[in-house]
Amino acid sequence: MMNTLPGNKTRIVCTIGPASDSPETLERMIQAGMNVARLNFSHGDFDIHARVIERIRAASEKTGRRVAILADLPGPKMRIGDFGKEPVVLEKGARFILTTQDVVGDGQQVSITMKELPQAVKPGDMLYLNDGLIQLRVEGVEGDEIHCIVITGGELRSRKGLNVPGIDLGTSAFTERDRECMAFALAHGVDAVSQSFVSSAEDVEAVRRAAREMGHDPFVIAKIERSKIIDVIDSIIEAADGIMVARGDLGVELPIEKIAIAQKYITRRANIQGRPVITATQMLESMTHNRRPTRAEATDVANAILDGTDAVMLSEESAMGDYPLESVEMLVRIATATEPYIHRGQFMQPFVAADDASPVDILASSIDEIVQKMKPSAVFAPTDSGTTARSVTRYRLPCWIFAPSTSEKTCRDLMFSWGVYPICRKDKPEQWGGLVKGYLQDFGIRGDSALVVEGPSKAHPVANHRLELIDLAGH
Ligand code: PGA
Ligand code: MN
Repeated sequence: MMNTLPGNKTRIVCTIGPASDSPETLERMIQAGMNVARLNFSHGDFDIHARVIERIRAASEKTGRRVAILADLPGPKMRIGDFGKEPVVLEKGARFILTTQDVVGDGQQVSITMKELPQAVKPGDMLYLNDGLIQLRVEGVEGDEIHCIVITGGELRSRKGLNVPGIDLGTSAFTERDRECMAFALAHGVDAVSQSFVSSAEDVEAVRRAAREMGHDPFVIAKIERSKIIDVIDSIIEAADGIMVARGDLGVELPIEKIAIAQKYITRRANIQGRPVITATQMLESMTHNRRPTRAEATDVANAILDGTDAVMLSEESAMGDYPLESVEMLVRIATATEPYIHRGQFMQPFVAADDASPVDILASSIDEIVQKMKPSAVFAPTDSGTTARSVTRYRLPCWIFAPSTSEKTCRDLMFSWGVYPICRKDKPEQWGGLVKGYLQDFGIRGDSALVVEGPSKAHPVANHRLELIDLAGH
């Protein structure tokens, strides 16, 4: 049977929820182009997540398409407690108290989950509720109570999020709850975990260490949603396997007018280190209830791709919207139409010139040059860990990078990377010599040549790489 390649190289991450967790919808979303299924551990109980994981695996098996499963850990997201009667309306200029005592909320006060908060804020600090729609200013702290003035009012309901930009609670982002969620998720075979509200490389390492102690080695994604970490972004990217530009919280933690430049900067820094980037939140927001996105949303998706994102993500659109399938199809259409216009090589220029370019970087840059001159119809990059393929795809080649590997884990990890087609093989790499022509035929790829790349091996990190241009025309 002939295999078909997707028309788009940008990866598609879909949050799974009540709108998309039936076996039929999952199958259709995979067929339409979903590469990664995201489970949001801020919501849903473990029984539901277990069932959804099973269904995703079954749908992937049935469709014959690889899907990576990402468990998104809630992290230290601050929330308000419950109101007795809701919604509560906060009027501009009114006083309002946030308390760590366990009270039933009303128009005067509401409880908060984070015990450390009263000690961490000071008069003049701004607090944001419900995605920043309501703004409070701290007037003073009395014991467990934070006394505030309402600066921007509005309707408030139980359990809404609370953001305090720039806050340092002095605690790890990886909470006990995250540990429980991760233990459950890994025991049920998820491939990747993303940690919310990371503040440092140590937070990322804490997640990885805990996973190893549990006997697993997931792909670890750092969610970038705190403003102050932009100064230490390179060390966080280095510690992580990939990152998510989590614009929901980042757009509250940062002044909203700075979000576009922050997104571009974070994306570029991750491209430089060869770590995949997911751009998340509100990408096709209006498709939660409409059949078509706004012009601004369609443009936002295209721009994220042009700026170097590896993946685009759906949140409410696919988790609880009316058009989960149409949202996936729309992302695929926008990606397919946009990708030919990505300025190839652009992400790497400042980097290749650097004195400390590594052997893998130099190899990737030579591959880019060969591809430009010889125009092979595909690149084959056999890989152990996926590093070679991730490094090469930074150049956004016009052809696919096929990445044969003996490791199914590596293949799933590569589902986060733009333009890489992983192939899991049970036989030994020594036996892969004659495979290229077979695969090209299989995928219906024509052309005069294909390029085979073997990255530097662990044993010979500098010397042992190999490039071979295979002549397909037979002369
Ligand atoms: P969340 O993360 O949906 O878990 O909050 C994404 C974001 O903040 O953008
Ligand atoms: Mn978030």
